[in-house]
Amino acid sequence: MGISKLKLPKVCEHCGKAFEAKSVITRFCSDACILAASRKRKKQALEEEHKQHILQESAATIATIQTRPYISIPEAVVLFGISRNTIHRLIKAGKIPALNLGERLTRISRTHIEAMFTTVAVPEKKPQGQQPIKLQYDPSECYTINEVSEKYEVSPSTISSIIRRNSIPKRQVGKFVYVPKEQIDKILAKK
Ligand SMILES: [Zn+2]
Repeated sequence: MGISKLKLPKVCEHCGKAFEAKSVITRFCSDACILAASRKRKKQALEEEHKQHILQESAATIATIQTRPYISIPEAVVLFGISRNTIHRLIKAGKIPALNLGERLTRISRTHIEAMFTTVAVPEKKPQGQQPIKLQYDPSECYTINEVSEKYEVSPSTISSIIRRNSIPKRQVGKFVYVPKEQIDKILAKK
């Protein structure tokens, strides 16, 4: 009896059965379980690889869509996470320019949808003892440059320099530039 009669109680990592292992590194109860576990591992590796492949492909698709000024409706659904119905409604309301290149070949302006879903973002500042700075403005809370010009009788170029000097947030939608009413009023009402 040269071999040590080691008896290590273990639980098979594949079938979960209790067994006596011959060595500390034994993980499975039988050859059948060793084989089955190895098959399972290979299958999981393949599935993981497949998943990665799909992820890479969809990232590549999105990157391509993002470079085009006009995109299809299914592409807009993917890119902006909005429903087809919403898109059709926006087209009907004239909010998104659309080209109809034939049946099921509607192309819509990517930049317009982008502008629509991006609200005016204000760079964060830390005022002391003042009320917190508002971070987003609704279009109804904004003036266009023309409106500011008419209300305060200042030229658009003066307004531009006021916007720049005071770091007033602005947002361009189509040919119009929008600026928050409350910030403009605060500065121009004093003059
Ligand atoms: Zn087993």
